[in-house]
Amino acid sequence: MSASPQVLILGGGIAGLATAFELHQQKIPFLLLEAGARVGGVVFSEEVDGFNIDGGPDALLIQKQDGIKLCQELGLGTRLVPTKLPRLAYVQRAGRLHALPAASVMGIPTQWGPFIKTGLFTWPGKLRMGMEMFIPKRTETGDESIGAFMRRRFGNEAVDYLAEPLLAGIHAGDVDRLSIRALFARFTETEQRFGSLLRAFRSQPRHAPSKDGAFKSLPGGLGEMITALEKALPADSIRKNTRATSVSFDGALYRVETASGELFSARTVVAATPAFVSATTLRAVAPIVAQRCGEVPYASAATVAMAFNREAVSHPLNGSGWVVPKVEKTGIMAGTWLSSKWPGRAPEGKVLLRAFFGGARDPKALEKTDAELVATALAAMRPLIGIQGDPLFTRIYRWENANAQHEVGHLDRVAAISQDLRAHPGLFITGSGFRGVGIPDCVADARTTARQVSAWLASSVS
Ligand SMILES: Cc1cc2nc3c(=O)[nH]c(=O)nc-3n(C[C@H](O)[C@H](O)[C@H](O)COP(=O)(O)OP(=O)(O)OC[C@H]3O[C@@H](n4cnc5c(N)ncnc54)[C@H](O)[C@@H]3O)c2cc1C
Repeated sequence: MSASPQVLILGGGIAGLATAFELHQQKIPFLLLEAGARVGGVVFSEEVDGFNIDGGPDALLIQKQDGIKLCQELGLGTRLVPTKLPRLAYVQRAGRLHALPAASVMGIPTQWGPFIKTGLFTWPGKLRMGMEMFIPKRTETGDESIGAFMRRRFGNEAVDYLAEPLLAGIHAGDVDRLSIRALFARFTETEQRFGSLLRAFRSQPRHAPSKDGAFKSLPGGLGEMITALEKALPADSIRKNTRATSVSFDGALYRVETASGELFSARTVVAATPAFVSATTLRAVAPIVAQRCGEVPYASAATVAMAFNREAVSHPLNGSGWVVPKVEKTGIMAGTWLSSKWPGRAPEGKVLLRAFFGGARDPKALEKTDAELVATALAAMRPLIGIQGDPLFTRIYRWENANAQHEVGHLDRVAAISQDLRAHPGLFITGSGFRGVGIPDCVADARTTARQVSAWLASSVS
């Protein structure tokens, strides 16, 4: 960079890159230190034999606009594609796939018709879910797990065949540990305001489903976003293969030491690394913040992408894929039909499938060899969607400690971290470990953090 950096950003995942993008827009010189040989963190896509594969995330939630907006600012607006029709997602039960009832909010029915017809729940299960309308609202204050909330209001089947598999699929998390307040504040607010989620959701005015569905992606995979971000930033503002090991403060400047013994200094540091990494790097400079960062749990996951000729799979693949309840014990958390979910992911006459492993449910999944992961994926998928023969090729992506778990009490911890950071002016924290896990939330928080950095630099004397 021409000017010496005012900000050191640690970590070049989407959070670090979005921080950098916002700082660059504000013309604030920065240097981003990334431990790996590439930026993007868990956002990684590759093209293999005409297939476009996402190894990590593949979808941007439309409802939270910050991911979409960033793509538009990066000139990728016209490349954003909605999910293909039909927009169906399935849940596995007793060896069969059941479409999630249409007209639902995270599976909670907003109309009776599709809910009554679904084979996903037993009649006693449906009855118990319907009784939600008469369950009194919770009087205790304080956080609770999503499992406890759903069990209390909708019964066990709603947890086993809805909340548990959806949360395993989205957050690789444990439904009985994840926080309802951190992840579904809308549900607790609705309970307190209306007494019943079913009554509240059913009484809402019915909007026609959005023509674009709920998610968008990019034809080359979400890695397109990372490539565009890297191009949008000054070439000398990113240092790859540079692992930050510790941060110190000399009364005027923060100093960052790296694994190779280099020293960088700046007035401001933004730690955009996973929370457990920030727990180590910040230990000397901000011990209480570091200790709280170390308390944020993470789960590991792996994805296995498999390519087939279309005729090798007998299922119509009419939808985006399915989630697998823990009680089904198939060895995978979810399966995605990437080429039916998004346009442009597989050449004509071929299909691209993906299996998810690990999470809080199966913490030892990453100990499996590549061959074992592929064999488990095939064993889980073959009988369900009728796969003949072996894949044309496979790709395995391992994401060790990559899924931040916002468990019960998370919001209190994050509030305490924000409070503790006040004792360390010029030190900032962002990333999926804190104020939101999905890409849109990570982008939003990173950009807010960058604006706070800008305001702090403007208000403090150098
Ligand atoms: C398999 C999977 C699928 C997902 N699917 C979706 C999805 O479809 N949609 C969605 O919105 N979200 C999804 N998510 C969640 C979302 O992708 C992540 O929460 C988000 O990308 C995390 O970004 P981050 O920048 O906070 O962290 P990371 O991506 O983990 O980036 C952290 C970066 O810090 C670097 N680093 C680590 N230590 C150091 C150090 N000491 N010094 C310097 N650099 C360091 C790492 O190398 C890495 O590049 C998914 C997550 C996973 C794992």
